[in-house]
Amino acid sequence: MATERTFSILKPDATKRNLTGAVNAVIEEAGLRIVGQRRIQMSRAQAETFYEVHKERPFFGELVAFMTSGPVVVQVLEGENAVARYREVMGATNPAQAAEGTIRKKFAQSVGENTVHGSDSAENARIEIAQFFQDGDIAG
Ligand code: ADP
Ligand code: MG
Repeated sequence: MATERTFSILKPDATKRNLTGAVNAVIEEAGLRIVGQRRIQMSRAQAETFYEVHKERPFFGELVAFMTSGPVVVQVLEGENAVARYREVMGATNPAQAAEGTIRKKFAQSVGENTVHGSDSAENARIEIAQFFQDGDIAG
């Protein structure tokens, strides 16, 4: 498996509780390198575009409200098989179902406020990285 990149967000519940360093430690211990990172306040339009695939879901309004409720840290992670590896490190969407040692098991409070986002495919990773980063902001 070649080196690849994935897109990550440390969500508002992580910034609010001062957990960005603790989450980054888990990411780095898993062998993923943080090659781009920026703390931003997501606009409503950015959040709606980012989660467009979920716009018909009952939780969409709540999700957009949460993602714009405070600052987030957007990241580009690099490593062997990074997309699948990060999904593994994150754990299941619902922290009640997440495996021991995963970020969501350690830190997440609910299925909505679940601390991190990670791309679900290499193609989506490219699209998501392009929404928040320019090439010059990433140094592998
Ligand atoms: P994942 O983030 O694991 O890829 P999904 O793509 O299914 O999960 O959902 C996107 C995000 O929407 C989740 O991370 C979570 O913040 C929120 N979400 C998903 N399911 C629910 C739900 N049943 N109730 C509230 N929020 C949800
Ligand atoms: Mg998803």
